[in-house]
Amino acid sequence: MGFHDSPNGIACDAVPLARLAEAEGTPLHVYAAGIVRHRFRAFDAAFKTNPHAVHYALKANSTLGVLRLLHSLGSAVDANSGGEIDVALRAGFTPSQIIFTGVGKRAEELTKAVSLGLRAINAESAGELDRIDAIAAAHGRTAAVALRVNPDIDVMSHPHISTGTRRNKFGVALSEAPAICREAAARRGLRLVGIHVHIGSQIVKVDPLRRAAATAVELARMLTSQGIPIEHVDVGGGVGISYDGTAGLDLAEYAAALLGELKGSGLALVLEPGRFIVGPAGVLVSRVVDVKSYPDGRTFVVLDAGMTECLRPALYGARHRVSPVATHVGTPSAVDVVGPVCESSDSFGADHRLPPLKVDDLVAILDTGAYGASMASNYNRRPIAAEVLVEDGTWTLIRRRQTVEAMLAQEV
Ligand SMILES: *Cc1c(COP(=O)(O)O)cnc(C)c1O
Repeated sequence: MGFHDSPNGIACDAVPLARLAEAEGTPLHVYAAGIVRHRFRAFDAAFKTNPHAVHYALKANSTLGVLRLLHSLGSAVDANSGGEIDVALRAGFTPSQIIFTGVGKRAEELTKAVSLGLRAINAESAGELDRIDAIAAAHGRTAAVALRVNPDIDVMSHPHISTGTRRNKFGVALSEAPAICREAAARRGLRLVGIHVHIGSQIVKVDPLRRAAATAVELARMLTSQGIPIEHVDVGGGVGISYDGTAGLDLAEYAAALLGELKGSGLALVLEPGRFIVGPAGVLVSRVVDVKSYPDGRTFVVLDAGMTECLRPALYGARHRVSPVATHVGTPSAVDVVGPVCESSDSFGADHRLPPLKVDDLVAILDTGAYGASMASNYNRRPIAAEVLVEDGTWTLIRRRQTVEAMLAQEV
């Protein structure tokens, strides 16, 4: 299952990546359905001793073909915009399977969320709770809400992907949360169902995640004991994966830590993993378009994939492994692997140890299933790449490569 070596080079579920590249062109996102299935089931099963719901974070990868697979597995979702709510509905999720998070929700997005009757709107401020209450009153509805609390925990991942400290824009200060919750519980248009925390992404240590959960549980217990019954704590996502082949965060350890904090609370658990479910399930297949060496010996391997297909290196300084697709012979040497976009940050990094590559060779950029295709852009007028989902020795094109006509369709 998943990606493996074969006599025809790297294959996904017995389909050689070279064959996919030939059929669908490059750059090409390739997803292994079996890995998504396996990781979702393992994640879900890890929490089976407590009532819980896995609300997959759509922003990690919301291509319909991937979402339909997750829907078939029994996942629910976490949406970060009105657009993501629409995509979730299109993929078959019911409003009761959708949680709506987001630091800046527009009035029309809140109206959509309230009218649909989503499972919960994770509110980011007292002002937003006021607005939700007013919209609910105007529509004769009661909106289920959770309050996002900022526990001021530094997760020590990249500053651009930590969200749970006072310096970040997310949630309300813990000290103000009890009063805001009491106020929300008194509103006719609101039903306060949960406490939400999400402290960042790509967190590879259990302790900050445990402490954030503990903060939410403690607040929920306190409110419940004061006559404001809280149904669930939503611990967000953030569970890190390994990008370098070493062991990532241990799922069993993470689950044990969270379940320990919940013990005896009677609270249901909501989880919002994104990266953990889909990150390792995808690779980006790309063709070498140039190889050049400077007199000082530095070699650049230029690919036809770059920041427009995989923004993480440019955005966060993230590093993905790069692997030749064909079984190569030859002594590896250190090269810079770079994209074709006119930005120096469009680089997969220096010192990739690769065997000699030549123009037209294929490489796979690994672990691009999360925050890859979903962060795509048309910068440099590059068409959005195609995506395929591989299963049982066959593949489905789940996103056609964008044409120039489609790219220009909104322009007048
Ligand atoms: C981004 C996000 C997630 C998912 O984060 P991962 O690191 O991909 O697990 C979950 N919840 C919220 C509120 C988010 O913003």
